[in-house]
Amino acid sequence: MVWNAAAARLFGFTAEEAVGRPVRELQLAGVSEAEYETVRARFNSAAPETYESTRHTKDGTPVDLFVTTAPMFDENGTHVAKIISMTDISERRLAREKIRASEENLAITLHSIGDAVIVTDAAGLVTRMNPTAERLTGWPLVEGIGRSLSEVFHIVNAQTRARLDNPAQLVMARGEVVGLANHTLLLARDGHEYQIADSAAPIRDQAGKITGVVLVFSDVSEKYRADESLRLSEVALKSISQGVLITGADQLIVSANDAFAKITGYAVAETLGLNCRFLAGPDTDPLTVAMIRAALKNTTAFDGEILNYRKDGTPFWNELTITPIFDPQGVLTNFISITRDITVRKAAEAAHAALEAQLRESQKMQAVGTLAGGIAHDFNNIIATILGNAELAREDASANPPVLQSLDEIRKAGSRARDLVQQILSFSRRQPNEKKHLALAPIIEESVRLLRATLPARVALDAHCAADVPAVLADATQIEQVIINLATNAMQAMHGAPGRISLRLDTLALDAALADAHPGLRAVYAQHAGRVARLTVSDDGPGMEAAVRERIFEPFFTTKPVNEGTGLGLSVVHGIVQAHEGAITVESEPGKGTSFTLYLPVAESEDGGASEAPPVQPAQAGAEARIAAAATATGQRILYLDDDEALVSLMKRLLARQGYRVSGFVDQREALDALRADPNAFDLVITDYNMPGMSGLDVAREVRALRTDLPVAIASGFIDEALTTQAAEVGVRDLIFKATAVDEFCATVQRLAQTVA
Ligand code: ADP
Repeated sequence: MVWNAAAARLFGFTAEEAVGRPVRELQLAGVSEAEYETVRARFNSAAPETYESTRHTKDGTPVDLFVTTAPMFDENGTHVAKIISMTDISERRLAREKIRASEENLAITLHSIGDAVIVTDAAGLVTRMNPTAERLTGWPLVEGIGRSLSEVFHIVNAQTRARLDNPAQLVMARGEVVGLANHTLLLARDGHEYQIADSAAPIRDQAGKITGVVLVFSDVSEKYRADESLRLSEVALKSISQGVLITGADQLIVSANDAFAKITGYAVAETLGLNCRFLAGPDTDPLTVAMIRAALKNTTAFDGEILNYRKDGTPFWNELTITPIFDPQGVLTNFISITRDITVRKAAEAAHAALEAQLRESQKMQAVGTLAGGIAHDFNNIIATILGNAELAREDASANPPVLQSLDEIRKAGSRARDLVQQILSFSRRQPNEKKHLALAPIIEESVRLLRATLPARVALDAHCAADVPAVLADATQIEQVIINLATNAMQAMHGAPGRISLRLDTLALDAALADAHPGLRAVYAQHAGRVARLTVSDDGPGMEAAVRERIFEPFFTTKPVNEGTGLGLSVVHGIVQAHEGAITVESEPGKGTSFTLYLPVAESEDGGASEAPPVQPAQAGAEARIAAAATATGQRILYLDDDEALVSLMKRLLARQGYRVSGFVDQREALDALRADPNAFDLVITDYNMPGMSGLDVAREVRALRTDLPVAIASGFIDEALTTQAAEVGVRDLIFKATAVDEFCATVQRLAQTVA
């Protein structure tokens, strides 16, 4: 046996002690017989071997050995000995066991860790995954191990969904810990998506060389959603146009958004800690305030409109919603109030309502006007009959003064009735009007002259006309009537108290702003944008309550005692203004006087309208028409046609007295038949215009067809432009205005008859 120094050190036996001793004593002291037998068998085997084995030293200490045996042979090839070399590996084994234990520990740790962990080697291949990592990636460990990390750990940007770099590669490249970008979304193999937060760190060996990467990540979807919703609600609060206020349960403001600051003009910081009532102002409706207060007190919601005030003092309409907020236990924590500035909408609504009211008003006026006009038209015939017959009776009763006096009273009453009917007709625009280029200043001067005659003692009347007011297209008589009606009302309003009435005339540019300010001017503006003449009649009398002011243009509306007012004065004014395509406005308040403003469109050109003047004019009721009615009984033959029997009867008697021979008809057919039977039997045809069936124009047409040279006159209770034009077309010689007095009528007939003779 050879026992070298190293063997001596290892086992504690010197060479002297060892040589010659059985191996069993030297190394195998503590082993069992069975084990000893295997060792011996190995020992005797001729094959070289390596193995690990535990032996004992001289003092019995076990020692781990790494054993290599090499057989030795003699020249005959017989196995004669064995070289056994042994290395003490006790420490190495200890270390290995420690490692195994720590490995186990690590596995347990990874298993129980809440975060997901993936470990890769230096090549980026997965070497470990814990269960959380398995769950989040959707890759079971057995499949994930050995795959590239980028395959198992598929991450994208949550917003753009662009693929993100593999963190293992980043760590390998940079050699340091790498955090994941915000908004990282892990796309799991099973289709799930997780918002994750993580970091990856290098694993280094003792020499500092990177041997792998450990990636730790966790599912933050929940938190991300919460953060995101918080962020979005902040963005929403900032960007919405409604003002948002949050108060505590004590109703003091704890937060306000930019829109609130913009609407109210208060900086957000200024409002903090205040009670919302600082937005109220002088015209804020106390009832609404009380409702809000009640809602806050009862912790119910409020939804309504309230007039609030901005920092600069201007009012705005606030469409306000207040909602109480409770915590999960049901305890009131806050109020959220939402403010929307609806001032513009409110203004539009008000304008719309005003327009509607105006429309209703004008429809009412029109309806009443049509009604009154219809009645007045029939009255015309009746009154003409009364007046005419009274006239005839007067002639017959010349010798009987008491009868004459009665007839005079009939005539006076009839005349008043006739004037009234004329007023109604002009209100309902059925009165003929003769529009000419008219300078308003002379009309005003003439009216002032007339008015002065009736001016109460202590009332002053002045007129001021601007120099350069252009002409308007108007009927002088009617404009004069407007001025007189307005001024008369003013005088009456004074009730004998001292005061002043002023007439002012000037020109004004009619633009959109003015048309907007006075809705009545809109129609004028639409047709005559440009300049308007403005006539103002104002007084410093008692003025009117709103309730009166709103109704003054209504026909028959009056505040005066029965015999003093008819309620027609302003209706007539209104009708005339309308017929002139103008507008009239009124400003009046109790104690502040009254001011009527009349707008008339300026005539376009000096000859425009005038040249279109119709060729046939209604017979003038002027002095020159009243030519010697002293009957020159020439015996002309007149065909008189009117569907009103009383009128026919009157005219027959009236004209007969003037020396005419009159054939009266109430039926158009009969009249035409008579003419057809003998076309030369008549010198003049007078026909009513407004008859059932054929109109006076139709009759005139047929008459002209029978005999071109036979003059035809049409009598009518109202004569407008359309009738004049049409009459001219048919060749009608004259239009007779029925309402004129009997002698005027006769004079016209006479003039016509003379032209025939
Ligand atoms: P009438 O004069 O017959 O009453 P109007 O149509 O002319 O009829 O006037 C209607 C009402 O308008 C009057 O009764 C009066 O109350 C009121 N009014 C008109 N003009 C004035 C004014 N200048 N000042 C005060 N009230 C007025």
